[in-house]
Amino acid sequence: MPALINLRSHPDESVRRRAYEAENQAWEGAKETLAACLNGVKGEALTLDKKRGREDALHASIDAARMDRETLNAMLGAMKDSFPMFRRYFRHKAKLLGREKLAWWDIFAPMGKTDKVYSWDEARDFIVENFNKFSPDLGAFAKRAFDKNWIDGEQREGKRGGAFCMGVAAVKESRILSNYDGSFDQVSTLAHELGHAFHNECAYAADKTQLQQSTPMTLAETASIMCETVVTEAALAQTNDPQEVLAILEAQMNNASQVVVDIYSRYLFEKEVFERRAKAELSSDEINDIMERAQKATYGDGLDERYLQKFMWTWKPHYYSSGFSFYNYPYAFGLLFATGLYAIYQKRGADFVPEYKQLLASTGQARAAELADKFGINIRTKKFWADSLAIIGKRVDRYCQL
Ligand SMILES: [Zn+2]
Repeated sequence: MPALINLRSHPDESVRRRAYEAENQAWEGAKETLAACLNGVKGEALTLDKKRGREDALHASIDAARMDRETLNAMLGAMKDSFPMFRRYFRHKAKLLGREKLAWWDIFAPMGKTDKVYSWDEARDFIVENFNKFSPDLGAFAKRAFDKNWIDGEQREGKRGGAFCMGVAAVKESRILSNYDGSFDQVSTLAHELGHAFHNECAYAADKTQLQQSTPMTLAETASIMCETVVTEAALAQTNDPQEVLAILEAQMNNASQVVVDIYSRYLFEKEVFERRAKAELSSDEINDIMERAQKATYGDGLDERYLQKFMWTWKPHYYSSGFSFYNYPYAFGLLFATGLYAIYQKRGADFVPEYKQLLASTGQARAAELADKFGINIRTKKFWADSLAIIGKRVDRYCQL
């Protein structure tokens, strides 16, 4: 199934469509079994929550994210307000593809083209130069990571795919694995992983213990997304080739729309599943119906409503773990919190950096709202989240001009 689902980003529309149809057909044969699993897992979570004195199914996830309900509601409210902006992006993408409305199988259709290949040295120089503009500390740190060979970047046989960063606390350093192929996508991945390494560095420099460094998912991506944003904005600023701009913006918008719009649909879905599962077991058709309505409520007229994806619940693994309820909105928090901080950096410039480093050093030690408070930011109100979404809105504007 993952191989089939990966075809959603195939350049050929008929391949994407046939993959979508084959996927739907295949799930039909497994849906009752999967529904039974989902009923079992959600039932277990509900029983445990009750015995533990939890208010509702959200309670544990809010604690694990070190958030509070006010923050969650403020963020969700701003996300909801931003749907028309994302629908504009979907409609424009449909137009560029020569269609009236976007079908589900076109959401991940590749757009634009970049032929630009970055050699390893060019990638290093581009990252170090632009990190330097953000803060000389960050630039010097990235240079050190490259110079000291902390990054295993080459592709070779037998090596695992993807990219990640791990801290090596004993020597107060980090190591990065990536599969560098010269594309801009990989340059931005390197910047992302170096952001994680810089996050570790801030904690090491402040002599935080291992326990003090244990960061919730909501805050773990703050530095990585910030670094990714720095290089993406730099790449956009230096090109006028419309195909290249389109490719870079599409990657950004696709990711942001998934993290805001699709994540919201998954949140609505899970909420209703928990509420109804508390009263009775649900059939696979009922679960499909909940998913489809959640997609209509979020994607709205951005998509062709004849071709949604009611089986989205079948393959997201966290739905099937009683310890990972609502493993969705923390993704939105991560993106929007980092983007919101980037908005503040744009306003304040260099004097933002010392406080930012302090924040990164203490992400394991306080609730998100308290950390933000030190910046004079109130994340319990919609404004912070709306400002962050406005940055994404500017990218939508530029995208819609292409
Ligand atoms: Zn990351």
